[in-house]
Amino acid sequence: MIEIRHLKKQYENVTPIEDLNVTVNKGDVISIIGPSGTGKSTLLRMINMLESPTSGQILVDGEDVTAPGYPLEKLREKVGMVFQSFNLFNNMTVIENVCVGAITIKKMDPKEAFDRGMELLDSVGLSAFAFAYPKSLSGGQKQRVAIVRSVAMNPEVILFDEPTSALDPTMVGEVHAVIKSLAEQGHTMMLVTHDMSFAEKVANRVFFLADGGLYEEGTPEEIFHNPQREKTKAFILRLRDFHMEIDTPQYDFLTMYTQFDMFALKNAVAGEVSQKIKAILEELCFGILIKKLKTDFAERTRIIIDVSYSETNKTAVITAQWRHITFDFDDPEIMIQRALIRHYSDNVEFTADNEVKITVSEKKN
Ligand code: ADP
Repeated sequence: MIEIRHLKKQYENVTPIEDLNVTVNKGDVISIIGPSGTGKSTLLRMINMLESPTSGQILVDGEDVTAPGYPLEKLREKVGMVFQSFNLFNNMTVIENVCVGAITIKKMDPKEAFDRGMELLDSVGLSAFAFAYPKSLSGGQKQRVAIVRSVAMNPEVILFDEPTSALDPTMVGEVHAVIKSLAEQGHTMMLVTHDMSFAEKVANRVFFLADGGLYEEGTPEEIFHNPQREKTKAFILRLRDFHMEIDTPQYDFLTMYTQFDMFALKNAVAGEVSQKIKAILEELCFGILIKKLKTDFAERTRIIIDVSYSETNKTAVITAQWRHITFDFDDPEIMIQRALIRHYSDNVEFTADNEVKITVSEKKN
């Protein structure tokens, strides 16, 4: 139903979309997610031609809406949009807001538009407010009216651009319920949201935008529970990395402690996980590796430590790599350190001759 080919959008200082290609089928509910600045909102605004592409094509029902002279009224009939900031007409009553597009753009008979508008307001629990003005409504109610106004036009697709991000948290649920019910009725929709749990619940397809295009797409199950590509994984798991290199036997271990504390604080690493990571780093670096460094140091010897923390799973993976130095993890001399590392971790795995991965979570004591 919508086909996007080689879409590019270049602003003066930034090109959020380089080359985007997607097809949207009738009845699809698509959640669009990704780091901020990756052009999610720009994409929706281009589908509605509120923004024109630098190059590429957007076909709606086989018609190229980016073609010069394509009538915008026709596009507005086909493509509805719900904004973060509601955009209701404050000088019109609720029912007037709902009907105005259907009457002026769709040329619907006013009586018919009114009846249908009332029916739609009733379906979102707002018929009692039909003759009120928007200023007397709460944010959640305004957004429900904005959604109904869009549905009243019978568009082929409705675009939602962060529809709940301007709302008080207590009102998010009522708006989500309305969007979910539209999805269940078979409306074709595209939704940009930062609410990952709703993005997963409502959609049948998820687009992850990064690197100027569609970086990965899949079912909610695939994207949220089994992402394949690196940036998707990092985004979904909300990975945070701590990196450190030890290149001298005189390494000041307390500095590392302080740096790690700052990292843990900044990234809200769960307290228990943070304590365990520190205990493991102490045994691994101070108890084993630096000791070894003191006896076997060579010019290019290095110990590289990475801690990757997933905010979502409250799990950390510590990767330690040693270069130009050999040591034996099974050495009886480091038996105690080894036992402590195993005690604090869920899993210890040697991924190469000179690399170990240690998993730490809240679960295991
Ligand atoms: P997202 O919705 O993924 O956060 P946006 O589509 O809002 O991203 O923006 C993508 C990038 O394009 C950002 O770097 C933003 O600053 C820039 N941008 C968006 N709109 C404009 C504009 N009208 N003029 C210049 N730059 C813009």
